[in-house]
Amino acid sequence: MTHVHTADPAIDYDPTTAEPASPSARSSADLVRAHREHLFPWVRPYYSDPIVLAEGKGVRVRDVEGREYLDLFAGILTTSLGHCHPAVQEAVTRQMAKLGHTSTLYVTEAQVDVAERLAAIAPGDLSTSCFTNSGTEAVEAAVAVARLYTGRHEIVALRLGYSGRSMLASHMTAHAGWRLPLGGVTGVVHARSPYAFRSPVDEAHSSDFFIDDLVEVIETTTGGKPAAFFAETIQGVGGYIVPPPDYFQRAAEVIRSYGGLFIIDEVQAGFGRTGKHWFGIEHWDVAPDIMVMAKGIANGFPVGATITTHEIARAWPGPSISTFGGNPICMAAAAATLGVMRDADVPTRAQERGTQLEEGLGRLRDRFSWIGEVRGMGLMQGVELVGDRATKTPDADRAARLTEAAKEEGLLIGRGGLYGHVVRIGPSLLITAEEIDEGIRRFAAACERVDG
Ligand code: PMP
Repeated sequence: MTHVHTADPAIDYDPTTAEPASPSARSSADLVRAHREHLFPWVRPYYSDPIVLAEGKGVRVRDVEGREYLDLFAGILTTSLGHCHPAVQEAVTRQMAKLGHTSTLYVTEAQVDVAERLAAIAPGDLSTSCFTNSGTEAVEAAVAVARLYTGRHEIVALRLGYSGRSMLASHMTAHAGWRLPLGGVTGVVHARSPYAFRSPVDEAHSSDFFIDDLVEVIETTTGGKPAAFFAETIQGVGGYIVPPPDYFQRAAEVIRSYGGLFIIDEVQAGFGRTGKHWFGIEHWDVAPDIMVMAKGIANGFPVGATITTHEIARAWPGPSISTFGGNPICMAAAAATLGVMRDADVPTRAQERGTQLEEGLGRLRDRFSWIGEVRGMGLMQGVELVGDRATKTPDADRAARLTEAAKEEGLLIGRGGLYGHVVRIGPSLLITAEEIDEGIRRFAAACERVDG
């Protein structure tokens, strides 16, 4: 590129003569204190004594004092190839040196590349995408296009779903704890979550029960003309709730019989995490009309994606702009991530490592009576803690102690469930067999610390 040199050092910045940035000498305690003082209280880290992370590589992270942790939560299932994957680093650096920002007003190869890659792996006729900066925005875009296409307003979501933190997304979230109690959002109703472990009917009949409830919610809490049914394939924040085998086929039939669309949220379950397939919904053998993605799509870069059919996308001709949506650097990260995922065949890897993880956790369930259920798919495994197996009382207190005990064992895990009583595990999709074994060993040691 032609560049006319100026005498202005602010423009012709020369990194070789510039002062190097000094490494931080601040302690964890100092940074936690400043965090509490200068960030909104909702920016709330895990742990009574929060971890201040400074670096990461693969499945390992290190805090500012140099303590190392095995990361089985991957920044909430987001560093899908592990921390600082070289292919992503390289692609991002190269793109940054070429062109860092455009807005949606210009065409870029990076954005087209990612849209083509998504169309190649998405189920059914999903072929047309738009990019945003978070899962929340991807949910918003899905609901907007569903409403524009159907000319309808009402959305049927699930009671243990989590959709994000905008006004709409937080109202689609039904957990009281995660909702912004601000009101002002209309047109969202909630059906029962397909949560067999806590269903009042036996497992063999639970699918009928949840589908009957979905019909009843449409018949009794909407005007009978819903725009869409919206569900996560596996409810993540809800505690890795895996619906019964025929649930989504039947739910899709129900919503379509009322003239609404079937929207699936793959923010947590997407990109091979559930094993065998690229997207969780493929295990249920039904294609959605719209699909929402984020988290693992770009190994930690802020990318939300909404994909649908040509026909549905045409209902939203604009005008509309996203300043940062489809940003070339983020798209380069996404393309590199998707490329490594394809070359490494992450769906197969996640299935193999997921089986190993599930078996290891299953052995712990046999040892500790307060583990009520181990459930999930692939590298998305949850451990639900109960007071005892007969009453199934959610045990949030032990789950909190277990998370702290895992930290003491050098292990990062997550929590979820309505009461925070479910441990969530979702590591890098490139995790090795040895690292899974190590994770299970450390988790077992944490379980022993909180037993009794
Ligand atoms: N959908 C699901 C299923 C999620 O788990 C989340 C985030 N936990 C979101 C949407 C919102 O994503 P974000 O935090 O990137 O806005």
